[in-house]
Amino acid sequence: MEPVKNYINGKWVKAKSGKSFRSINPANKNEVVGVVPKSGREDIDQAVKAAREAYESWQLTPAPRRGEILFRAAEILLRKKESFGKLETREMGKILSEALGDVQEAIDMGYYMAGEGRRLSGETVPSELPNKDMKSVRVPMGVFGLITPWNFPVAIPAWKVFPALVCGNTVVFKPSSDTPVCAAKFVEVLAEAGLPKGVLNLVHGSGGEVGEYLVSHPGVDAISFTGSFDTGKHLEAICGAIHRMIVTEMGGKNAIIVMDDANLDLAVEGAIWGGFGTTGQRCTAASRIIVHKKAYKKFIERFKTAGSYLSIGNGLQRETDVGPVINESQFNKVLKYIEIGKKEGAKLILGGKAYRKGSCSKGYFIEPTIFGEVTPEMRIAQEEIFGPVVSAIKAEDLEDAIQIVNHTPYGLSSAIYTQNVNSSAIAERDLETGIVYINASTIGAEIHLPFGGIKHSGYGRKEAGGRGGALDTYSRWKVIYRDFSGQLQKAQIDK
Ligand code: NAD
Repeated sequence: MEPVKNYINGKWVKAKSGKSFRSINPANKNEVVGVVPKSGREDIDQAVKAAREAYESWQLTPAPRRGEILFRAAEILLRKKESFGKLETREMGKILSEALGDVQEAIDMGYYMAGEGRRLSGETVPSELPNKDMKSVRVPMGVFGLITPWNFPVAIPAWKVFPALVCGNTVVFKPSSDTPVCAAKFVEVLAEAGLPKGVLNLVHGSGGEVGEYLVSHPGVDAISFTGSFDTGKHLEAICGAIHRMIVTEMGGKNAIIVMDDANLDLAVEGAIWGGFGTTGQRCTAASRIIVHKKAYKKFIERFKTAGSYLSIGNGLQRETDVGPVINESQFNKVLKYIEIGKKEGAKLILGGKAYRKGSCSKGYFIEPTIFGEVTPEMRIAQEEIFGPVVSAIKAEDLEDAIQIVNHTPYGLSSAIYTQNVNSSAIAERDLETGIVYINASTIGAEIHLPFGGIKHSGYGRKEAGGRGGALDTYSRWKVIYRDFSGQLQKAQIDK
């Protein structure tokens, strides 16, 4: 068991209240992974004060020097990848290979943002006037409050912390209370890499108390949040009222279209890993499979067979394909949705109950579940379940399939399996999601292109990289005009 602390102003400290809570292994409720400070407002006050003070010198630290610290952090993460992966599987439940992938994403983001320390480029453009020059430069926003979910407990903090720091911001980080140990280990890496005190502060605690106080704290300049739509929308309203910049990355009801000309081997495999990988707990999980009516019967048979081979268990065991869901409330929520699906008249094709064989009785395991004959209006086809439950919906043709995909409040990720170049081009144009995959599942973003959704899936600028990605989220533009003509202003106005 790990004793975990807050990290404030370069020191590992307990919560002022002295209270703590436990982080539990979802594969075995009896295993306590960490005992964690249950922080309150006074801990946030201290962390924000430290971040404000550190901002003065951090914003003036040359960006390439800031990048070097991130590079060292990526090197340390790489060295500790295996132990990070195992910890992540114990604390969050995902299978080890996926946990290692999550850590690798954080490593990649570290190297990538380290390089951005030497770029952070703006524009220089010619002036309309002689003897005048002009440019735009990126400047930091100040103190950033970062709030993260539990499903990518190392990668998502890395997606936020690395770009925030390279741009010259200081940070107060409030991770999910389901994965606090992973968050603390990640912060430890940055401390080891040589980050000056106060630049990155970590405060554990509940969203309602600690998170919400951080979001509205007068000493904070901007917020980046990833989590559910309900929480994100609530935080957007708080920030709107106090004129504070917020970026929210939220849920999804992602869909794969399988056309009648699709390579079914690829489509079935994509549906399996998109639907049941990470136990269906990815924001980009393929929870709807929309199948052309001519391919529907064959696809369902093969999807069912492939799903029935998935091995459920503790993610540390090599043979496991599907681990537990994160906690009791998520366990109950997923089972409730299965009941809703049955009541709505969907046809249960596979799974449909909790999985309690052997040692799995100690954890939050649910069978991979497939519903067929789902209609687009059903709740299981509209609401984010965030568990191993996939709905198959029959479509008349491509146009109908695209309409079904677009017919939810969410807009994060979608995919199409087809061998027809025209169908893929139409889908690429008409699917209303932030990310579209062609002949690949809805999952598997790469860090050097922007990541994020539209509609209820996201608000504001984007995460990750490329143009319009994280650098635009974690910096703002300052525009500078320099006049070396010696001319009076009036003469310039009369140009
Ligand atoms: P959640 O909204 O319950 O919590 C997310 C974070 O917000 C946690 O740290 C939580 O403590 C905090 N929080 C909760 N209430 C708060 C409040 N009132 N004020 C401030 N902070 C508060 O979400 P979750 O269950 O941790 O994560 C699952 C959700 O995250 C899913 O909807 C999933 O789709 C989404 N997600 C989205 C992305 C993306 O990039 N779009 C990535 C991963 C997860």
